Amino acid sequence: MQDIPDELLREATSEMPELYDILDALGLKSSMCVPLVARDRTLGAITFVSAESGRRYEEADLATARDLARRAAISVDNARLFREAESSRREAQESLAVLDAVFAAAPVGLAFMDTNFRYVRVNEALAAMNGLPSEEHFGRTLRDVLGEELGAEIEPLHRRVLETGEPILDLPFEQAVPGKPREPHNWLVSYYPVLDVDDEKIGVGVVIMDVSEREHALAAAERAGARLAVLAEASQTLASTLDYESTLAGLASLLVPRFADWYAVDILDDDGLFRRIAVVHRDPAKSEWARKSRDLYPPDLEEDEGTGRAARTGEAVLYRTISDELLASSTKDAAHYEILHELGMESAMVVPLTAAGRTFGGLMLVSADPARLYDEDDLEFANHLGRRAAVAVDNARLYRAAEARARAAIVVEHVADGVLLVDQDEIIRLWNPAAEQITGLAASDTVGRSPVDVFSPWETIADLVQRGEPRPETQPLEINGRELWLSITAVGFEGGTVFAFRDLTAERAVEKLKSDFVSTVSHELRTPLAAIYGAALTLRREDVPLGEPQRTGLLEVIASESDRLARIVNDILWASRLESGTMQTTIEKCDGVAIARSVVDAARHYIPPRIELAIKAPKKAPLVAADPDKARQVLTNLVDNAVKYSPDGGKVIVEITVEGSQLRYAVRDEGLGVPPAEHRRIFEKFYRLDPDLTRGVGGTGLGLYISRELLGRMGGRIWVESSGSGGSTFLAELPIAAD
Ligand code: ADP
Repeated sequence: MQDIPDELLREATSEMPELYDILDALGLKSSMCVPLVARDRTLGAITFVSAESGRRYEEADLATARDLARRAAISVDNARLFREAESSRREAQESLAVLDAVFAAAPVGLAFMDTNFRYVRVNEALAAMNGLPSEEHFGRTLRDVLGEELGAEIEPLHRRVLETGEPILDLPFEQAVPGKPREPHNWLVSYYPVLDVDDEKIGVGVVIMDVSEREHALAAAERAGARLAVLAEASQTLASTLDYESTLAGLASLLVPRFADWYAVDILDDDGLFRRIAVVHRDPAKSEWARKSRDLYPPDLEEDEGTGRAARTGEAVLYRTISDELLASSTKDAAHYEILHELGMESAMVVPLTAAGRTFGGLMLVSADPARLYDEDDLEFANHLGRRAAVAVDNARLYRAAEARARAAIVVEHVADGVLLVDQDEIIRLWNPAAEQITGLAASDTVGRSPVDVFSPWETIADLVQRGEPRPETQPLEINGRELWLSITAVGFEGGTVFAFRDLTAERAVEKLKSDFVSTVSHELRTPLAAIYGAALTLRREDVPLGEPQRTGLLEVIASESDRLARIVNDILWASRLESGTMQTTIEKCDGVAIARSVVDAARHYIPPRIELAIKAPKKAPLVAADPDKARQVLTNLVDNAVKYSPDGGKVIVEITVEGSQLRYAVRDEGLGVPPAEHRRIFEKFYRLDPDLTRGVGGTGLGLYISRELLGRMGGRIWVESSGSGGSTFLAELPIAAD
């Protein structure tokens, strides 16, 4: 712009009139403006203005200005380039530092390996994972650092990444590294190719994560789950049956080999000795061994370690590791040690079996594998198992005891012996039905009362316990107003005494009858024998001359007394034949009236003169079906008795009547009579109303018994009617024979 017109100036400053004033004052004349351009970029512009000099710029000035501007632009550009280079270098340095920091602080292991599998960079995390300082990685190969074996395993992976350019992600490893050979860890490893700016592969990047803890947690969760499942299954099997012995043995299938290599359960019996319930080893051959060892060396309550200790203290014991010394000190001898050593005992736990506050055994789990060492979690599991097992055993035992008690109660209910239980406070607590029956006292009358009020005298019975007499004793006692002969045994226990008694009153009576019988029969035999002996002696005497009537009299005495003797002996014989079942009866039609007549006729020969004997019979009577000899025996007995038991004399009448289908004989006398209470008993064997012969009337007590038995065998019957004085009537019936 050679000339700057005034209008232009005004226009350009129209918004700032004071600027116009300044420019005008400066006296602007001519102006040039050139751009600053470097590398095709416009950086700015330079403006040249002439004022006071009044110079007008020409084309040549413009060319110069252009040249100046070009140089200035290059300088500015250079300066800017330099500044940019500086700042990007700084930035690069900064980001490298950040990278280093990230690398170092990364919680995962990071490494960069060159194409020859050499470590170029590792971070601390990785060095720690390898168990070596980071300096010991640089420049060394995988095989140098990780060992031949692991190195050989990993190299191919690197090679593959380099060849394919594809990463390998999250490869799991479970491995111990040479730096930490005793600690196998779980790793998740990723490999990826590293490229340079030209996309050239320059190595492999490695990212390693230690997931051991996660794996452990997972494994622990899995184990916990498995344990819960076993516990649930165990509880179910334990609760499903009362046969706890086989159930506890059956638990082995849940525990071995999953939780233990072998397993044993022992239960304390009442005698304080252990009873082996189960010993199971994963190896069946060793199971047999284990059983033998448990037989030969059963646990005992006194032992310092193992089942005995747990059962004694009621506390679980964990043997995380079992050293040789521990094994040696807790075994009984060298052979025991040898067996357990052979079975394998690396780790073990013993838990007590405790229920309802009582410890009654122990459950032992043994690991034979050094890699499976039991810990607190395992012990807790075993404890749970032990508790469940113990409750099951306790329940089964309670149930069995209850069942046994129930059975015992049934026995007590149904046993024929009277049973009573007297507690420590001397109160009757149990009174069984047999006791009710024997004594006639209901349980409601006796239970809750003192036995002193029931038995008289009680002291002699109570004494039995003091004397510790194991055999039953027979004693007469007054109970409920009756005298009973009871055979009593007593057994004391912590809650009192159990008495069992048997009613021997009847046996006692029979005994008495027998001894009475012996004495009466002796007497009965002696009397006729004495008479016969006396008569015979008199007959033999030569110094005393005997007249014919005297001789006849003496001979008659001998004859009749011999007859009496014969009858006594006969009675005894008949009774024994009836008893042994060898008595034969031959039933035939016979004339019952004729038989009675012959009996009465025969009796007339020996009855004393004070007796008046008669027979009353219908003119015509039907025949009876009977054994005539036996019928005669019965009637002879009845007539004999009627005469015998009329010591003061009187009438004896035999009356025959037809009663329906029976022919009835009524033998009536006016003698001693039979009290009604004795009507039944006089027909019993040996029973006599007057055993002591106070009325001087002898007998064997067999006649009526024989009569009853014979009539019974012939289809007849016998009974007595008497008020007890003024005589009695014996009635015998025989069936009338069919036509
Ligand atoms: P014994 O040999 O004692 O006569 P029995 O069996 O014939 O034996 O009789 C049993 C008991 O019955 C007798 O001891 C007697 O006490 C009683 N007895 C039997 N017959 C009579 C009777 N006619 N009068 C009274 N008592 C009798």
